[in-house]
Amino acid sequence: MTRRDWLRNTGLLALAGGAAWLGARRTASGMDHFTVTHTDAEWRKLLTPDQYDVLRQQGTEAPESSPLDHQFAKGRYDCAGCDLALFTSDTKFDSGTGWPSFWKPLDGAVSTASDDSLMMARTEVHCSRCGGHLGHVFNDGPKPTGLRYCMNGVALTFVPA
Ligand SMILES: [Zn+2]
Repeated sequence: MTRRDWLRNTGLLALAGGAAWLGARRTASGMDHFTVTHTDAEWRKLLTPDQYDVLRQQGTEAPESSPLDHQFAKGRYDCAGCDLALFTSDTKFDSGTGWPSFWKPLDGAVSTASDDSLMMARTEVHCSRCGGHLGHVFNDGPKPTGLRYCMNGVALTFVPA
């Protein structure tokens, strides 16, 4: 190998390494760091149209439309997208808003992001495992947290205890 070849090969290796590093950085900072991921076409097959609209398109179900709004039996509320346990009936309360409401999620179950859509500064709530949109969290909830997790019932599956 001549010195010129060696320089060229090392340069190419450095370029390849840099590209791999950039790729890894982009993955870590984007929406694709969730452990459960599917393509858009797969999500459409896995979910009902209403579930897809909320979970994958950040839609909002009509108030009073979810039977889970008035569900107060003992049990667990799982993500409709990936079955991760998100809330329990112990933290559910009747907010009077027409959407299922909780004052606390299970540890590590949800993540939040700022949402400035609809001319409002709101905090969006999504499943920490699949990234599915669940609803929003507000600061006008009951004690002990003072938080109101305003959830779309269609994004949740109730599992009786
Ligand atoms: Zn999920």
